[in-house]
Amino acid sequence: MGFSYSKKPNSILQDDKKRCFVCGKYMSHGIHCHHVFGGANRPASEKFGLVTYLCPYHHNMSDNSVHFNPKMRDNLQAYAQRKFEELYGHEEFMRQFHKNYIKGRDE
Ligand SMILES: [Zn+2]
Ligand SMILES: [Zn+2]
Repeated sequence: MGFSYSKKPNSILQDDKKRCFVCGKYMSHGIHCHHVFGGANRPASEKFGLVTYLCPYHHNMSDNSVHFNPKMRDNLQAYAQRKFEELYGHEEFMRQFHKNYIKGRDE
């Protein structure tokens, strides 16, 4: 039996930790783990599985990446908030992350 221990955080946004969330590219190694909400929210991001796995190009190595393309970042944050809220609700999201990332919503 080949057990391989992985420290990669779980994600509620995708099942396959070896595929880029944006382009679906399979990477047997070297894929990047991205915390959707960083800074002070990084621990909560990890705790609740609001992380994505990305190829370097879509992570932070191009203008077409979640770190350098504000639209991609915003879309990903809104998507992650929705996924969180499906599980825990909006109030809990605000309690954990303190900001609404879904545009057009008045809270
Ligand atoms: Zn990619
Ligand atoms: Zn990142």
